[in-house]
Formats: sequence, structure tokens, C-alpha cells
Amino acid sequence: MRKKLLIGLLVLSLALVLSPQGMNLSHAAKKFVSIASGWVVGVYYPLAGAISSIAHKNLPDIKITVESSGASVANAKLIASGDADMAILQNDISFYALQGVKPMFEKPVANIRGITSLYQEHCQIQARKDAKIASVKDLKGKRVCVGPLGSGTEQNAMQILEMYGMKFEDFSKVERLTATESSDYLKDGRIDAAFYSVGVGAAGLADTAMTVDSVIVPIDGSNRDALMKKYPFFTKAVVPKGAYKGVDEDVPTVAVMAILVARAEMEEAMAYQITKAIFDNLKDIERAHAKGKELTLATALTGMSIPLHPGAEKFFKEKGIMK
Ligand code: GLU
Repeated sequence: MRKKLLIGLLVLSLALVLSPQGMNLSHAAKKFVSIASGWVVGVYYPLAGAISSIAHKNLPDIKITVESSGASVANAKLIASGDADMAILQNDISFYALQGVKPMFEKPVANIRGITSLYQEHCQIQARKDAKIASVKDLKGKRVCVGPLGSGTEQNAMQILEMYGMKFEDFSKVERLTATESSDYLKDGRIDAAFYSVGVGAAGLADTAMTVDSVIVPIDGSNRDALMKKYPFFTKAVVPKGAYKGVDEDVPTVAVMAILVARAEMEEAMAYQITKAIFDNLKDIERAHAKGKELTLATALTGMSIPLHPGAEKFFKEKGIMK
């Protein structure tokens, strides 16, 4: 019996020495965390990249990998299936996910938990100037990208149009393109306009505006009031003058919040460590994108639409921003 045990131990230690993980025990102990982000030319992707590099520099046991995606709706589904441990998505879509609002979600995403609010995302309808689109109504009969597949943008586009008594069927062509493609399509005239719910200054929109004369179409007046009444996650906002080439005055619109979430199954200690590392290294978040400047401890819970992960809650309680 004793001999068997000894041989067993010997085999085990040999296997450990020979396996690649065995060579480096710290590597074997590393925990992998994936973040579902968003569009390469959006803001989620660079911010998730910053979170990954914060972990790399400050959390030796955690390796965070970043995936691009259509964004909000797709990301909530990745949380539900466990294919992503964390995600960035809109606060309206995370609420709908938790509730299981159909047809967006077949069933509730019961395991979605908040880590922190990040920044405001504006509903921006970018149109070629030569398409002569001065208001949402003028989109009738035009070729329009309503957002990438799985995006929160597409849902917002439907909600906005609803308030103007319109539907996707009113367009002569409906495209669901990645943000990189919609920028290219706008530039070469294959579409007239594109919806984006994204942080102001996103690379996709800035790039389009540099290449082709373009405008941001206003969402305002009683239509906007009705929109905020029916969908209370929308708040009044403006795309400020100078945000893009050709935007010479403030353009009224609505905004939602981008939030960082995790799966409920994530260990409390890990969620705590990641939350703390983010707030200890806000400079790195700011460096990744100008929108990162909006992330502060004081506003970490603004617009949080779902219950917090206990790890994040512990951190915010320690900091005294919640009871
Ligand atoms: N809010 C966008 C969406 O879910 C994604 C924006 C981004 O990738 O920065 O449609």
C-alpha cells in the first residue's frame, strides 16, 4: 500500500515537472478572465484593453483577455452562456437582459451583475451631408445602417424610430454592419446614414467625418420627450460642437450609460480585486480613450441598472460610496 502511494507520488511529481505548467507554478495558478467588449472602432474595445493591461501590471494571478463583438445584446448572451466572464454593455440592455425582455432575450440573463458604471454613450445618427437628412423623418427612403448584429444600437434605433412613427421598413435599405464597415459604407456612399449608440469621439465616427462631409442628425423636441418617457434609461444629452469635423454646433440627442458587468459566478475576491485595480489605476483608463475620464469613484453607481456583484459592492462600501 505504502509502496503504491510512493510510486503514485513519484509519477505525479514527474508529470508536474514535465508539463509546461509544472515548469512554472505561478503560470499554473493564473486565472483567465475574458471580457466581451464591442466594436474595434468604438470605445468598449479600447477600454477593455486598458482593463486588461491594468490586470497585467497589477494582478499577477489574473490574465484578462479581450474579445471584440457586436456589443450589448450579444455580450449579455455571452454572460448568460458563460462564454464571457465580464462584459461592457449599455445600462438599458443590461436591465432588459436581467428581465428577459423579448424578443431581445429568450429568457432572463439571471447571472448578470454590475461592477461599475463607465461613461455616457450618445445615440448618434451620422449621415452624409449630400443625403440631405436634417431630421429623423428625412431618413425615410434612405439606405441606413441600424447597427451591428447583436448591438444595443439596433435596439435604440428601433426605439427612436418608434417615437417618430417610423420602422426599419421605411428605409429603402436596412444594413446591419460592423462599425468599421458602416464607416466605410458611409465614406464611399453605399449607405446614407448610420445609427451608433457609442461614446462621443469613437474612432469610427471621427474617421468618417474626416473623409466625407457628414452631419449628426438631431433627436429633439416632443419626440425626444416621448422617447425618454417610454424608455426611461435615455437621458437628455448633446453631441458637443466640434466633436467631429463638420459638427459646428451642439446637436441635441439622448444618451445611455456604458457599464462593466461580471458573471454572478465570478469569485467575490476576484471581482473585488479587479474593481479595486481599476479604481487604483484610473489614469490607464483615461489614456485608453478620452471617454475614460468620465469614470470616477463618485459616479461609479450612476445609472447602474442591475444588482452589483458582491465583490464590487465590498469595494464601494469600503470606499464609503454605498452603505
Ligand atoms: N453601445 C454599443 C452597442 O452596444 C457598443 C459601443 C462600443 O463598442 O463602444 O451597440
